[in-house]
Amino acid sequence: MFGYDSFRGHQQAVIEHVMAGGSCCTLMPTGAGKSLCYQIPALCRPGVGIVVSPLIALMQDQVSALRELGIRAAALNSSLSWQEMQDALSAMQNGQLDLVYIAPERLVTDAILNILDHIDIALIAIDEAHCVSQWGHDFRPEYRMLSALRDRYPHVPCIAVTATADAPTRRDIMAQLKLDEIFVAGFDRPNIRYDVAVKDTPKKQLLTFLQDRPRGESGIIYCLSRRKVDETAEWLLDQGYTALPYHAGLDARTRANHQNRFLKEEGVIIVATIAFGMGINKPDVRFVAHLDLPANIEAYYQETGRAGRDGLPATAMMLYGLQDVALRRQMITNSDAPDEQKRVEHHKLTALLGYCEAAHCRRQILLQYFGDDGAPCGNCDSCLSPQQSIDGTIPAQKILSCIHRTGNMFGGKHIVDVLTGTPTPQTDKHNHDQLSTWGIGTDIDRRTWESFIRQMVAANLIFVDLEGHGGLKMTTEGMQFLKDKATLQLRLPREKESRQSKNREA
Ligand code: ADP
Ligand code: ZN
Repeated sequence: MFGYDSFRGHQQAVIEHVMAGGSCCTLMPTGAGKSLCYQIPALCRPGVGIVVSPLIALMQDQVSALRELGIRAAALNSSLSWQEMQDALSAMQNGQLDLVYIAPERLVTDAILNILDHIDIALIAIDEAHCVSQWGHDFRPEYRMLSALRDRYPHVPCIAVTATADAPTRRDIMAQLKLDEIFVAGFDRPNIRYDVAVKDTPKKQLLTFLQDRPRGESGIIYCLSRRKVDETAEWLLDQGYTALPYHAGLDARTRANHQNRFLKEEGVIIVATIAFGMGINKPDVRFVAHLDLPANIEAYYQETGRAGRDGLPATAMMLYGLQDVALRRQMITNSDAPDEQKRVEHHKLTALLGYCEAAHCRRQILLQYFGDDGAPCGNCDSCLSPQQSIDGTIPAQKILSCIHRTGNMFGGKHIVDVLTGTPTPQTDKHNHDQLSTWGIGTDIDRRTWESFIRQMVAANLIFVDLEGHGGLKMTTEGMQFLKDKATLQLRLPREKESRQSKNREA
């Protein structure tokens, strides 16, 4: 029916499990072939397969593809006319449909449940199942009702599929949907090269990145704000690139038009907020660049996973700086989420910073996060230009004491001025050259101090206090670190990074 010669990854195991009436959660990266895992059992088992999906555009694509194969599929959503909806419902009632795609909020309406109560259901498949969990990065309240649906049809196999769920999210999905088995498939995307750099001259860094690549590649550039999306797209246009903005502030027609051009034309670069990408299936995206820190590792992995779906070499590049970290922390703190969830979000952010500041293979860190392991990959910046680590205990103590002596109110640059004994109007004004910590760090260059400060932020020993005008402050962990006389490994910046900074200083 589908025309494939063999199954991929866990497909066969999942299909056999569901065909036998079992329920499960299936974690596979995007593009690995999750749909087949429920489509085949839905066709083989008696009755209609119900597929819960949050995205209308995605439903439509799948339904058209299935119909082309001669499979009787329909999507019940707001894009249908009243008559079309009636026709689809009676087809479902009369057992004339193999698969029905439906949004969760529509599925749990009385009209639909009354029909389902009286027909055979082959299975219930839940796409983007991480939306069930508030530990997931895209919780949707309407997904919560699916738990009750499970109780209503306890003997119908349920298969929850997602490309992104860390351990707590998985546990939550399993519990909410009462699933009995979990299949986690290889998350590795070996053709994607991971590259993370400190953001110092973002435009120049982006341009260098693009200039180093073949002309005419398709790519996605993610920015945090709409304003930055617009600015960056415009600036790239001036530089001669076909760059189009995409964010929720643009009208629907412009958005659809830009998305279409990205899908159909060659060499289009989409500059977007995270509003772009869910459900986009373009195999030859050659790079994904993050000009700002993403929300967490799951979001980052999902966003970078849009590169290189054709299996050919692709690059995921990220620029990040301390200001990003502070902004993200502030976004979490100021959100309406319950405290418990804020704590989770803060932990997830810290895990992402650990990734950014890591001295060893980036892919290993990503895969470990998803419960997969592997050897160092040889295809990330850490593997390709390894970094040396040193015992950073004393430098860390010097940084902490300098932050403390200057009153927990100055940013990284000022702290480095004091450490290296570099007089500035600021240090003069505050008589900081009189401090005992003045010039205690002349043995280390500025660039390295800046990197150490970032690593200590990543390790959550200090934080950037946006309420306090971006000053660095010690965290409780930082105080504990001093009290326990703990040790800390710090990595030295790469050759390239210090060379760049020397050039800039020159
Ligand atoms: P996911 O939902 O995991 O992102 P899809 O189910 O959309 O991925 O499948 C991604 C692509 O892989 C589709 O084009 C699909 O037709 C193809 N595919 C799925 N299973 C197989 C297989 N066993 N052999 C070859 N191609 C497959
Ligand atoms: Zn690596």
